[in-house]
Amino acid sequence: MEIKKDLFSPLKAWKYAFKTPVSFPMEDIKDRPRESQDNARGFHINDLSKCIGCGACAEICPTEAIVMVKRKDLEEKEGEHPERPTMDYGRCCFCAMCVDICTSGSLKMSKAYVLNTPDPQKLYVMPEESFPAPGGDILGYDKTPESDLLDLKRAEMPAVAGAQAKKSFVEILKGYSMEQARAEAARCIGCEICVKTCPANMHIPEYIDAVWQGDLAEGLAQMYKTNPLPGICGSICTHKCETVCAIGKRGEPVAIRWLKRYIVDNAPEAMYEEVLMAPVSKPGQGRVAVVGGGAAGLSASYYLRTMGYQVDLYEAKPLVGGVARYGVPAYRLPDERLNKDVELLEKIGVKFLVNTKVGQDITLDALHDQYDAVFLASGLPQSRALKLENGDHPDVRYAMPFLAAARDYQRGAGEMPDVAEKAVVIGGGNVAFDVARTILRLQQKKYGHSHVSLVSLETRDILPADLEEIEEGEAEGLHCHCGFGPQGIELFQGKIRGLNTVKCLSVFDEQRNFCPVFDPEQKGMIEGSQVYVAVGQMNEHTYFTPEHLERIALKGGKVQVDDWGQVKGAPWLFAGGDIVHGPDMIHGIADGHKAARGIDVYLQSRSETA
Ligand code: SF4
Ligand code: SF4
Ligand code: SF4
Repeated sequence: MEIKKDLFSPLKAWKYAFKTPVSFPMEDIKDRPRESQDNARGFHINDLSKCIGCGACAEICPTEAIVMVKRKDLEEKEGEHPERPTMDYGRCCFCAMCVDICTSGSLKMSKAYVLNTPDPQKLYVMPEESFPAPGGDILGYDKTPESDLLDLKRAEMPAVAGAQAKKSFVEILKGYSMEQARAEAARCIGCEICVKTCPANMHIPEYIDAVWQGDLAEGLAQMYKTNPLPGICGSICTHKCETVCAIGKRGEPVAIRWLKRYIVDNAPEAMYEEVLMAPVSKPGQGRVAVVGGGAAGLSASYYLRTMGYQVDLYEAKPLVGGVARYGVPAYRLPDERLNKDVELLEKIGVKFLVNTKVGQDITLDALHDQYDAVFLASGLPQSRALKLENGDHPDVRYAMPFLAAARDYQRGAGEMPDVAEKAVVIGGGNVAFDVARTILRLQQKKYGHSHVSLVSLETRDILPADLEEIEEGEAEGLHCHCGFGPQGIELFQGKIRGLNTVKCLSVFDEQRNFCPVFDPEQKGMIEGSQVYVAVGQMNEHTYFTPEHLERIALKGGKVQVDDWGQVKGAPWLFAGGDIVHGPDMIHGIADGHKAARGIDVYLQSRSETA
């Protein structure tokens, strides 16, 4: 039977000769899209202004059809690479994995899948918003939540809830377990977009990968390349890197800071020594004095020491650590984690000369005589004053001395600061929230209940404090009065009754200069018998003599330095951290590293010319 059918079947084909053809000449279809299903996978379309050049599409492509190409018309800027993907349609198998992983959601596929060209170069294209073929502007395939290859949700951080948290100074965030840390590390695509935004340019993808691999020694080594204070940063860094994380384009950014903390919390002491002690290999090249034991001073000390210099660090207070030690409350950064960072510096031979205030106990000129170079990183130890009616009342307190006293109390080195049953805090930054939340805890301890109002010029959506500070403060019962300016302190029978306020309509002018505008018709009073001022910090340049100031440039109170932190007018003097850039721990760390390299270059060139 089968043989018979095969013999006659060619003749049967003749019946089609009289039917309407189902194929069309190319001229008829070249300008119109072929009919296709809704999610057809045709040539790609990419919104180039939305694409961030992360390269995830190229990385995943199984046929290596995608090559990232640098675009001359795109500037280097934070949050993106100036590259965009090009597709080789000689290789593409239209699997759409590139679309499913695209971090920004810019890459999709059109309904065009016919490209009639004799020129093979035309099969190699950088997709733009439409593809130059019929149907190239019609959306074909886009990812769905089911096909999305990114994990958009971050591993949850175990934390103490607000009502419980305010009853003590115990650290709120508990830290990731190994499973949580690895799950979080797995979300990183290694694109390096965050690196440029981190002021210290930390090796972020490398240490995240080390977490994923379970190699904590490698994680430590990667972190210390540009940041010798990972414990401090893992807790309280302003994590600017996370604001640009590629995963954050459509989901929650990778918890870069918490992964750093995971490494610090879990790396045993012996591992620190094994990984980090080795670099100190050529001692005795010169002597450097570091003034100030905050982030910038500690960072410079570490790198100078690993370059072989003898380092003496002068600190006015009994302990080094700066704001991390005497400002940030223990519920955000416990002493144990801070100590881990600091102890390593002592182990590698940095000498801490505490209770020694430069400008008072020893002069800057004496340091100049005794050392080959001096690095100034004395920070902003003073609170900025606020001119207010009755502002000199004894129950008006300032942020920095209050936080230092409260921190001493938390570590058992001082009395409990005296807090009123109802208090008002002026300010909207992290320091103001630290003050307010510290008062809440002290009130809980003293009275069993708490009442703190925080008054800020900025409305809640533009508060300078980190969102997590705001949310945690609110969860602890902080009363936030955002968008109000302080007008004066109201007294009754010699005691503070509260803070008079006026509605603030705007904080900045069109040029983004600080220029608050108030509505005098909207006035009020916020009750409290103590008022705390937390509206900024100031430096204390008491070590500069009039002779120094003739040569050294200060602008707006900030010391003027070159790219390596060298002070203009005094080549032996370097400066960094808050006295140069303003309050930010990670900028201080980056400054310390930069200045250490600058000092090394200066001393090397000096010895060559000697
Ligand atoms: S569709 Fe698949 S093969 Fe084509 S470029 Fe995208 S990932 Fe590569
Ligand atoms: S994955 Fe998306 S955002 Fe990243 S380079 Fe590719 S197209 Fe651009
Ligand atoms: S943390 Fe985010 S931005 Fe940084 S490498 Fe990973 S995915 Fe990219």
